[in-house]
Amino acid sequence: MTNLDTSWESVSGADVTEAAVTRTCFAEPRPEMFEQVSCYSCGSQETVPLVTAQEDLTGKPGNFTFVTCRNCGLAYQNPRLKLAHIGAYYDEEYIAHRRKADWGWLTPLYRRALEKHDRKKLDSVRDHIALGHDKAVLDVGCGAGSFLAKIRQRYGASAVGVDFKDLSDLPWLCDVEFRCGLFYEQDFDGRQFDLITMWHFLEHDFDPPRTLSFARDLLSDEGRLVIEVPRLDSLTWRLYRERWPGLQAPQHTVLFSRSSLLDMLERCGLEVVDYRACGAYPAYFYLFAGAAFKLLKGRGLKPSRVLLPYFLGQLLLSPVLLFESRLNLSMQTVVCRRKA
Ligand SMILES: [Zn+2]
Repeated sequence: MTNLDTSWESVSGADVTEAAVTRTCFAEPRPEMFEQVSCYSCGSQETVPLVTAQEDLTGKPGNFTFVTCRNCGLAYQNPRLKLAHIGAYYDEEYIAHRRKADWGWLTPLYRRALEKHDRKKLDSVRDHIALGHDKAVLDVGCGAGSFLAKIRQRYGASAVGVDFKDLSDLPWLCDVEFRCGLFYEQDFDGRQFDLITMWHFLEHDFDPPRTLSFARDLLSDEGRLVIEVPRLDSLTWRLYRERWPGLQAPQHTVLFSRSSLLDMLERCGLEVVDYRACGAYPAYFYLFAGAAFKLLKGRGLKPSRVLLPYFLGQLLLSPVLLFESRLNLSMQTVVCRRKA
């Protein structure tokens, strides 16, 4: 689902005309396309309303409700769009699937942003594991898989990627074992992994505890699971609320605060070895997109128009962004291992 995650899709996806077509052709979801869910973490059905969101990225119609569990505090989409209907929202505009590569004269900047993103993922992983040809790596929700391709190329580690969308025809994935489908339905035949990564995957998941337990059982004795998700109790959430890019309705099923993430990991038999209030994903994107969403009020971003202001704004804010890791702007990364 992700690689250069979610919200980037808006900057990358369609041009102006495509966005307009999306808005007019995409019908508002009907009530029967939704289902009620209990809290993923504790099973309670007692909730309080949190926020009603729109699909701010491309402007597809509909209102989507998020609630907070009265018992454990987990925030999640309820009712949520059924699995059978969510696929349509991961269309060709979706950046993680990286179909569009040509952005005119901004293409070098765009490519550099993607490469920086993969480099930052590698940096956070290398702090915890010595990668080499004897290591096995699994990326859940690998999207276009450039992170895995880099690991394969640079360290010779064996690389497996899972995504619900079949992207195995992408040329750089030729050396990666690509599996199409739901992660917890894969048969790994007793194989274990030294590193499992979930870059902006868990907040899209329809059963996060099942995913986490399945991943835990695939970890080797010294194996590490690295998870990056948006952080609900962050500055950008407080700034933007119903237009917070981390809502990314309707694709995001769960919204994790620091405590609700750590709580779920604990319940799933995982022990946290490192926690950071930042991620490989650029926090700046949330600052930028949240402001744009506030102005546009659900009309959708027009990627070809916002790419230049995006990069200019980033340049302007670069002195502040140097301290990104200390500001709790929008992301969180956690590294864990199997509980003894
Ligand atoms: Zn709960």
